[in-house]
Amino acid sequence: MEDGIRLPCFNRAGHVAHAKRCMSALPASQTDIDASRLALAFYNIGILDLLGVMNDGDTISRQNGKDEWLEWLWAQQTQGKYGSGFRPSPFMLLHPPAEEFSDYNTPHIIMTYTALLALSILRDDFAKLDRSGLIRLLRACQRDDGSFTTTPGGGESDLRTLYCAFAISAMLDDWSGVDVERAKSFVTSCRTYEGGYGQDLFCEAQGGTTYIALASLYLAPSSSETDPLTLEEKRQTVKWLMSTQTSSGGFCGRTGKVGDSCYCFWCGASLKILKMDHLVETKTLASFLADSQFKFGGIAKCPGEHPDPYHTYLSIAALCMYPPSPLAADEKPDSWEFPELDPLLNARVDTAEWARKYISGKGHRT
Ligand SMILES: [Zn+2]
Repeated sequence: MEDGIRLPCFNRAGHVAHAKRCMSALPASQTDIDASRLALAFYNIGILDLLGVMNDGDTISRQNGKDEWLEWLWAQQTQGKYGSGFRPSPFMLLHPPAEEFSDYNTPHIIMTYTALLALSILRDDFAKLDRSGLIRLLRACQRDDGSFTTTPGGGESDLRTLYCAFAISAMLDDWSGVDVERAKSFVTSCRTYEGGYGQDLFCEAQGGTTYIALASLYLAPSSSETDPLTLEEKRQTVKWLMSTQTSSGGFCGRTGKVGDSCYCFWCGASLKILKMDHLVETKTLASFLADSQFKFGGIAKCPGEHPDPYHTYLSIAALCMYPPSPLAADEKPDSWEFPELDPLLNARVDTAEWARKYISGKGHRT
């Protein structure tokens, strides 16, 4: 299937320019996600990190506004009644605040995970991090069924939030904020007959939530001693994941759908976590992502669509795990070189190492 594929150049400069454009001003088409400005910032900072222009030399970092981003991210660390963490953005804050702990100022688990990774990309030393407040926040967000709400006593509750709580605990190297066993049984209850995971009980298997379920199970401290899945469960999950790579080379999110670049990450990273990455056809995958590149930079969900930071970041993250090979000289091999990715934290390996070292506070003690 891979024979005869000729890849064009991977438009690195275009994708860097697209990320910078999206960081400086929100395109009109994306004003509806202003409430999640922090998440958007993460994808753009992440694109620059994966393409190697964030920390390679001071000049470039300064051009990228590193100091301003550090200041803005730390300004989102906030305290609520039940602990501390990061809020999505200051967009709905009243000036001056009407009450001491406003609902709009509440720390949010997903945004906290995002902010911690973004700060790690920017190589912050986390001296300002309120670690004990973060543990209290996690504790206040776990429900009786093991799942987590995004904010204490409210907000959405699905597997995404549970994954963020696990990733935060792994980066803190402190699991005292979560009841791991109860959380793992919630993950197990989201497993479907196909071998994938839905976002809640009785939901259809989906690529994104399957990644989140597997990453959570393998982030859990006990996973190094006992494999979270039985051999039979693994076989079934791998079979389902492999069925999501379509003939276009791109992965789809649900059985029978068309290829979408973000699922190249979600399904690809799931296979990587299960150590079955050798099954993925890297060249057809790269060919699908190459065709999804927009001519002025950025990557769309599929060929012919408009690009956005979310699909651009996840496409490049997929290529970090599955760089195409073999490549001929006229396929511009240099443009297809990527750093190694940590599939559990969804960051390049050196960024993930930084996060684990400095967020846990170990970087300061040594
Ligand atoms: Zn998508």
